[in-house]
Amino acid sequence: MGDRLRYLRRALYALAMQPDIRVRSVSKIYETEFVGEGQQAPYYNACVEIETGLAPDRLLTVLKEFEESEGRDADGHMLPRPIDLDILLIGDRILSGDRLLVPHKGMRDRAFVLEPLCEIAPAEKFPDSGETIAEACAKIRRKSGPWIVPLTDVGLLPNVAGEPVNWDLNKEEWRAALAVHCR
Ligand code: ADP
Ligand code: MG
Repeated sequence: MGDRLRYLRRALYALAMQPDIRVRSVSKIYETEFVGEGQQAPYYNACVEIETGLAPDRLLTVLKEFEESEGRDADGHMLPRPIDLDILLIGDRILSGDRLLVPHKGMRDRAFVLEPLCEIAPAEKFPDSGETIAEACAKIRRKSGPWIVPLTDVGLLPNVAGEPVNWDLNKEEWRAALAVHCR
């Protein structure tokens, strides 16, 4: 809700600024029809690939702390919210704790997850089934589900020159690229 683009950019900035997190790739932003009970305005969705030394549980805590610092209620599940940060896949690991399920439980059936993920990691496999993200995505495209549209005029990083963005930025470059949008 609110300024969706700004919230997404702030989230990416917060990740990129974490000492133990390195952003490796970033998808386009997709505007997507709300999925769930009742009516809500469309969402913005995007996926990023990170490399981190953080344990999965610690990473989840970092994500939740950021969500809360952006004004999200801890129990705001399925309600309009400033930002929702989920862990989708962690290599070939399968985690089934109380707090953290990996692969993320709903991702296989959600075009708003699979489309952006397919853009950055088509060959990545679900560790349990061996299915690739591209295969899962193709399956969901064959169903006529909720609409989903990639944004072509704006992205997570401003791309003023119209050139491909080098995502392998150092912290100073990230700061410079995003700071202006993230105040
Ligand atoms: P949703 O993301 O489905 O809208 P929430 O963000 O409210 O729902 O998440 C509810 C809880 O799901 C979180 O508090 C977290 O402990 C748990 N959870 C389990 N697996 C994951 C995961 N892979 N990524 C993020 N949260 C997860
Ligand atoms: Mg979540």
